[in-house]
Amino acid sequence: MNLHEILTGFQTEWDYHNYLIARRWPDGICCTNCNSGTIYKRTTELRMKCGTCNHSFSSTCGTVFHNTKLPLSKWFLAISVIVHAKKGISSLQLARTIGVNKNTAWYMQMRLRNAMKEDITLSGIVEVDETYVGGALGNMTRDKKQKRNPFKSGMTHKIPVLGMIERGGQVLLQVIPKANKEIIRPILRKKIKPKSTLITDGFGPYRTLDKEFDKHISINHEQKQKAIGGYNLSSIEGFFSTIKRALIGQYHQIHPNNLASYMDEINFKFNHANQDSFSLLISRCVTIGAVL
Ligand SMILES: [Zn+2]
Repeated sequence: MNLHEILTGFQTEWDYHNYLIARRWPDGICCTNCNSGTIYKRTTELRMKCGTCNHSFSSTCGTVFHNTKLPLSKWFLAISVIVHAKKGISSLQLARTIGVNKNTAWYMQMRLRNAMKEDITLSGIVEVDETYVGGALGNMTRDKKQKRNPFKSGMTHKIPVLGMIERGGQVLLQVIPKANKEIIRPILRKKIKPKSTLITDGFGPYRTLDKEFDKHISINHEQKQKAIGGYNLSSIEGFFSTIKRALIGQYHQIHPNNLASYMDEINFKFNHANQDSFSLLISRCVTIGAVL
């Protein structure tokens, strides 16, 4: 849904709540206290009342939109702006566009990015690689960098990100504290099915992966190898350059603590580029609950 559709399709705050209700309770509203289906909508406030236990509740209770004091109309505008901003949008720009203050926009973005987290397992032919991103600390002194880097890794102003991409399929990004075997291997085991073919470079943590997966192709960059028998790392390398362009454009001030949530947004947009990501994100917001 784009901004025009929102502004013309929803007249009252109840219209927004009804849209939420249809996604949260596709088979009819149930009381959040006793599960009863006998529910009355109140006319004087944006709440519903259970005819069985008298419990009063709102369509947003227990969701990402819970306890925010923001009208749903602002949330809908924010979601539309965010999912349609291909290269991302800064919280300052979001604040101006939807008419909230900068802190509120930042808080909305963080909650929405949390709902964008991808919980999937990859299979088939999977390219795996790591990259280093972030640069907001680039101009600081070494002491300051050490203080602000939550992971205390060697490359103080760059944070490693592990990328896994299915050939012709979905991608998974994960910010990691260090690019070593102890951290990378458990992630690969958890996120990629064992009956898969993994393509990596010759980096140490990827060695002996053939023992855990059906097949492992290791491309030796040091010997200037680009591909082996049609297997290459061009999808993940291309994806990493997209991320870096997005980071330079919109997100050059990212604090390392927030990098993971930026990655969640990039990850979500890539995986759902051909879907109605507005509707998908709203559905996630009403099902995952408020966790921040
Ligand atoms: Zn009830």
